[in-house]
Amino acid sequence: MTHGHGIPPLTTITPSDKRYPALNRGFNQRWIARPDYVRMVGSPEGAARALSEAVNQAPEHPGRTRVTVRSGGHCYEDFVCGEDVRVILDVSPMCGVSYDPALEAYCVEAGATNWHAYSHLYPLSGRALPGGSCYSVGMGGHITGGGYGLLSRQQGLTVDYLYAVEVAVVRPDRSVELVLATRDDPDPDRRELLWAHTGGGGGNFGMITRFWFRDLPEPPSNVLLTGLSWKWSDFTKDDFAALVTAYGEYFRDHQDPEEPSGKLFAMLKLNHVSNGEIGLVAQVDADDPGGERAMKEFLEAVDGRIKPKSGQMSAPMGEHPPVQGLRTPRRLPWLTATQALNGSGENRCGKYKSAYLRKPFSRAQIETMWAYLGKEHYTDYVNKEALIQVDSYGGAVNQPPRETAVAQRDSVLKVQYQVYWKRVEPESAVEKHIAWIRDVYRKTFASSGGVPAINDATDGCYVNYPDVDLNDPSWNHSEDRWSKLYYKDDYPRLRRVKERWDPLNVFRNQQSVEPPTRSEGSGGGSGAS
Ligand SMILES: Cc1cc2nc3c(=O)[nH]c(=O)nc-3n(C[C@H](O)[C@H](O)[C@H](O)COP(=O)(O)OP(=O)(O)OC[C@H]3O[C@@H](n4cnc5c(N)ncnc54)[C@H](O)[C@@H]3O)c2cc1C
Repeated sequence: MTHGHGIPPLTTITPSDKRYPALNRGFNQRWIARPDYVRMVGSPEGAARALSEAVNQAPEHPGRTRVTVRSGGHCYEDFVCGEDVRVILDVSPMCGVSYDPALEAYCVEAGATNWHAYSHLYPLSGRALPGGSCYSVGMGGHITGGGYGLLSRQQGLTVDYLYAVEVAVVRPDRSVELVLATRDDPDPDRRELLWAHTGGGGGNFGMITRFWFRDLPEPPSNVLLTGLSWKWSDFTKDDFAALVTAYGEYFRDHQDPEEPSGKLFAMLKLNHVSNGEIGLVAQVDADDPGGERAMKEFLEAVDGRIKPKSGQMSAPMGEHPPVQGLRTPRRLPWLTATQALNGSGENRCGKYKSAYLRKPFSRAQIETMWAYLGKEHYTDYVNKEALIQVDSYGGAVNQPPRETAVAQRDSVLKVQYQVYWKRVEPESAVEKHIAWIRDVYRKTFASSGGVPAINDATDGCYVNYPDVDLNDPSWNHSEDRWSKLYYKDDYPRLRRVKERWDPLNVFRNQQSVEPPTRSEGSGGGSGAS
């Protein structure tokens, strides 16, 4: 396994450095910061030093005061690369993967990407994190937000296996301490710090340097992978409704992770009509003797139920390239299948929204989606890269082995609204992309204040798909603040962790966990507005 040997503990990149333009932005080209410097951090001790120096320097520009931490740079909002950022501390040089006999756990450094973790952990240990499909997503953000992917219905969320975390935190006197917090820590405050990292989201409590995982699951030796698509032009509104309904009902009805159908994971790519195709990707455990039958029955239940004829996928769909040659399910080694879905793609500008669904979409919601995707509304809107992606959910996710800070544990679908554009597009075009995604989302969840509020049909939003519109009462008319939508009843507890470990609120962004206000005292409060 790899270690960070030979990597300098700190490399400082200032605006005159030729590397600066590559490093003052992340994956989402919408956000470009102008920090005094970006610091590449190669070791936990280097992290503590870099953080200490950053929080003890006076800002050169009054408008740039935030110190932010980056791992894979995939944040959807401007939390890392905002205009108000003074320093970016980038942990990507710290990407080692190893077994730690002292903690009896696998250690993954915070700067590793998904692919690095998969491709280093699996060959040497036979284990894997049940994480996301995008190669270049970093552990720092991904794990702390919950981290889910194609193995999650079978094996749960990445945080279900998180045993320990090492975090550089800032004390009230601005000194920095490197804290190791374990799940069974004798110190209750450190146990709470670990808990907060099992779903509380990145950028909230400190600078994470390493994660340790225990009892990591073994992925299947082989999986069956399918990728197909239908021509958009073959769909009527009824066909579209039949597809979305059949898909939702399948996952509502197949939730037992012991059954092959309960392990099956799928992504339905409801692209805008201008894409030309609607896509489906599905994967099931091929080591399971019932896996092949489960895939067949799933395809019959979804593809077999509608008039449009499916074929090979040929168009890119959102974050994923076309998954080709897989119209007929193919048996592939798990790592090879994971590679086939490399969703890193081109760096573009993007806006995203999310929803957890406890029930399949209603007919009214499907009609709204049809109207926006199919150009009944926004008749002159053209964007191949506007889509509603509906992921299967639940199974093992809904049977967590222990308490975590991921509060959504009974949903059957997880939806991601996505819209992409190129940085060179004029402001008027960008406004249209953003208006489209805001509008389709608001109309879909019109009966619960324009957002998937906490109720018997919907269960809030995914903190790793952040959306600052949730802060804005013109887009969120529900009773549920953004913090409730992400964290539900865990929010007061997260605020107490914040108060204990980041009392100066060094780690902050538009949706960071708020320290309790003075009048709330140390009880944590339930969330100021
Ligand atoms: C193409 C694409 C595909 C995706 N697919 C999936 C998926 O399949 N499943 C899924 O669950 N999610 C997925 N995501 C969402 C992804 O999990 C989040 O965007 C995640 O937060 C990214 O983490 P990062 O480290 O790459 O991002 P960054 O931009 O580096 O960080 C994101 C947040 O975490 C904080 N952070 C990062 N590193 C640290 C650290 N070391 N210490 C403290 N805070 C830190 C940042 O300050 C920021 O607030 C996808 C995102 C993209 C862009």
